[in-house]
Amino acid sequence: MTILVTGGAGYIGSHMVYALAEAGERVVVLDNLSTGFDWAIAPGVPLAIGESGNQELVAKLIREHNVEAIIHFAASIVVPDSVRDPLAYYRNNTVNSRALIECAVSCGVRHFIFSSTAAVYGNPIEIPVREDSPTQPISPYGWSKLMTEIMLRDAGAAHDLRHVILRYFNVAGADPQCRTGQSTAGATHLIKVAVETALGLRPRLLVFGTDYPTEDGTCIRDYIHVSDLVRAHCDALRELRAGAPSSTLNCGYGHGFSVREVIETVKQVSGVDFNVEMAPRRPGDAARIVADSTQIHRALHWQPRYDDLPTIVGHALAWERALTARRAAHDSAGAQLARA
Ligand code: UDP
Repeated sequence: MTILVTGGAGYIGSHMVYALAEAGERVVVLDNLSTGFDWAIAPGVPLAIGESGNQELVAKLIREHNVEAIIHFAASIVVPDSVRDPLAYYRNNTVNSRALIECAVSCGVRHFIFSSTAAVYGNPIEIPVREDSPTQPISPYGWSKLMTEIMLRDAGAAHDLRHVILRYFNVAGADPQCRTGQSTAGATHLIKVAVETALGLRPRLLVFGTDYPTEDGTCIRDYIHVSDLVRAHCDALRELRAGAPSSTLNCGYGHGFSVREVIETVKQVSGVDFNVEMAPRRPGDAARIVADSTQIHRALHWQPRYDDLPTIVGHALAWERALTARRAAHDSAGAQLARA
């Protein structure tokens, strides 16, 4: 029995594939490599290059690999991009997910784990936010994920497809063994941007909005280490296999940090006092999002290991250095080839 990981060459997916391979699971990756990298996939794990909405390809993979469970990461994830180009987000996140879920049902896949997001809550009315809080996204990204949640719940009720929907809060950090990390160029997420700035890869970091109704005027988020997030998926798979009912769970630690606090931490951990400039608010940003994580602890017996902002930042920095070295080695190999 095999686990199909869509988006397995991407940031979170590649950490998932390492964790599954280490646990002795059989894995196949489906990724269109639009933002992922084949080198990020754990050695020996097969990769099919294509869209998660390509039903012919997905059905073939399910049949040939005897797929028992799908972990669905493949998606577009940049909130401001979704505001600029909503239809692309609905196609890639919602339409492709519909096709994938349909294929899972028709091919008899039993278990499905879906990467959802805290963005489904929009501006939460209570902090920390619980899973039964109203879902009122304020970006097309949030809506594109919420629509998939709804489809999955309805399909799960009508067919034999048990699922866990994990609502990710702000995922950051990298593999503690430094085998993979956030590698996509032009990333927009705060900790990634801050470590790039600390390493001199960007001239400055912009703080988007200093007039939010928070203690220091900047937005507050619940930053979760990618390895703890992956652990939640492993726990979800174990519980589904043991017969647990479908569930929707927040994936966050339950406490938040402001943009200014994150920047201070990156400065301290890196030892670099990099350039920071204040800028206007970014469209689609909520002031404060922090998880109530009671349910995930209860349902999955989840035990995070890296609930510490300096550790998250330290791993992100280590990966950024490794990535910079990898790019330099790649560039010099390319230059040598061009000279030959
Ligand atoms: N942010 C910022 N400067 C940046 C990137 C992000 O001030 O270069 C802020 C952003 O406005 C938000 C918070 O950091 O308040 C987290 O943003 P991110 O893009 O990391 O995650 P999101 O919460 O949007 O998924």
